[in-house]
Amino acid sequence: MYRTNTCGELRIAHVGQEVTLCGWVQRSRDLGGMTFIDLRDRYGITQLAFNMDTNAALCEQARRLGREYVVQAVGRVIERSSKNAKLPTGDVEIEVSSLKVLSAAQTPPFTIEDISDGGDDLRMKYRYLDLRRNPVRRNLELRHHMAQLIRNYLSRLDFLEIETPFLIKSTPEGARDFVVPSRMNPGEFYALPQSPQQYKQLLMVAGMDKYFQIVRCFRDEDLRADRQPEFTQVDCEMSFVEQEDVLDTFEGLIKHLFEELKQVKFEPFMRMSWHDAMRFYGSDKPDLRFGMQFVELNDVVKGHGFSLFDAAELVVGICAEGCAEYTRKQLDELTEFVKRPQVGAGGMVYIKYNADGSFKSSVDKFYSAEVLQQVAARFGAKPGDLMLLLAGPAMKTRKQLCELRLEMGRRLGLRRPDCFASLWVVDFPLLEWDEETQRYYAMHHPFTAPKPEDEALLDDPARWGDIRANAYDMVINGVEVGGGSVRIHESGLQNRMFHTLGFTDEQAAAQFGFLMNAFSYGAPPHAGLAFGFDRLCSLFGGADSIRDFIAFPKNNSGRDVMSGSPSPIAQEQLDELQLDVRPTAAGK
Ligand code: ASP
Repeated sequence: MYRTNTCGELRIAHVGQEVTLCGWVQRSRDLGGMTFIDLRDRYGITQLAFNMDTNAALCEQARRLGREYVVQAVGRVIERSSKNAKLPTGDVEIEVSSLKVLSAAQTPPFTIEDISDGGDDLRMKYRYLDLRRNPVRRNLELRHHMAQLIRNYLSRLDFLEIETPFLIKSTPEGARDFVVPSRMNPGEFYALPQSPQQYKQLLMVAGMDKYFQIVRCFRDEDLRADRQPEFTQVDCEMSFVEQEDVLDTFEGLIKHLFEELKQVKFEPFMRMSWHDAMRFYGSDKPDLRFGMQFVELNDVVKGHGFSLFDAAELVVGICAEGCAEYTRKQLDELTEFVKRPQVGAGGMVYIKYNADGSFKSSVDKFYSAEVLQQVAARFGAKPGDLMLLLAGPAMKTRKQLCELRLEMGRRLGLRRPDCFASLWVVDFPLLEWDEETQRYYAMHHPFTAPKPEDEALLDDPARWGDIRANAYDMVINGVEVGGGSVRIHESGLQNRMFHTLGFTDEQAAAQFGFLMNAFSYGAPPHAGLAFGFDRLCSLFGGADSIRDFIAFPKNNSGRDVMSGSPSPIAQEQLDELQLDVRPTAAGK
């Protein structure tokens, strides 16, 4: 037997017991007559004590151990003379009687401490060492715990966890597929699933009624910050349900997680239409931990000779409470912020409502105090507040103001990681126009059902942009944690949808024939959604990055720097796959 106890287990009640512990040498301290070693495993740290007077040879042996050596120590649990209240095992130590090195270790390239001296790249290269650190290990423990809670909750509600294939057919919609060449079928490829969407719908046709899966998904997208080419979804689907049933079920799941893990109880989640979310927050995932709702000002500010506002489709602003004292420098910083290419505004107008009731603005030349008073009234501003205005094309300006609102929220400390504001954004548009390809795309995916009352608009291409979908996203703290839709379950409507998206009958049949076929054998009305599990974990872990919650993540260029993938493959492999690959710089 390698060990009798873990390094996190021993307490004062164990004093007098003979124990055997195994673990890694966290640190050792030499105090002349005594040597102490902190022995670490996943469960904690226990102090090993060696006495020069009673066993010099053993003490010498202990002194030779380097950091991260793996050792086995046998000894007696004794009460410590100087206790460490910070450690759960801090009342006791092991008076070691024999010590065995199970494995020697090179000095690690960074310190295995809660706050390490290793930079990101180094820690990723040696991720197995990084994972030895408490904060990273705790993230994986949280992930495990959340997966268990989700499984148990959904199982109790009769959901079946069913695995769907990873080698599937490539479809042109959505993001780019990762493809896998088939050796047995030269020139043909599988795709890795971007999500199990069509399979879960087939499971509904198959009568499974309620399905879920904690499942890896793959998308070959240009990586934006905090996207991973492979990520995990909690994927769900239900039969004989309406939108309301789905929202209820999964609001229940998320509330359950919050109660179990955070002892937070929520009111029923607010519902906001996509249209209102865009209009009042410039985003389909508004952060509602703070207010600063957008206020539109066209009717108040136009026609006073300020050409920028007069020419703009939309003048819209936010009011930052208590910020009228902002200095020139602070206002310049905000102007710089909105002018950054990532935000893209031409400039920003400010109006200070001073504590004495007077106004000071960057457009004083054009606006009298009366007009500024009207503006202030629109915002419901009080003396001491600061109003920030942007102008331009409506949608673009709203998105820019969204960035400014989030920046102000950040500056004012209103985006606290320990506060949670959740909502459902509903009534998404069904279709989204793409300027580049000059066609409509499904905003969610082509299987999403239009709202029944908007279905007739499918016959009028001029109104396609107005069709609303029975699609929904769950948003917490400005993060889209999950989303889904009621599905189309009749082949007739699904075919109309494919036509709307520019598919010919032949193309639709080639791509989605199996689903359409299935629908012809009796498809129940069904709906579902998927949560981004990595993101959910980072939200509960109070961190921004999903990478911290994935055991072996890829870096921002989609590379695994530890194993060195992706990498070229041998010519024989290429030959076997009948792939003719031109050598690249990386491959040479
Ligand atoms: N498959 C969808 C997605 O990955 C989620 C859903 O509609 O259930 O976004």
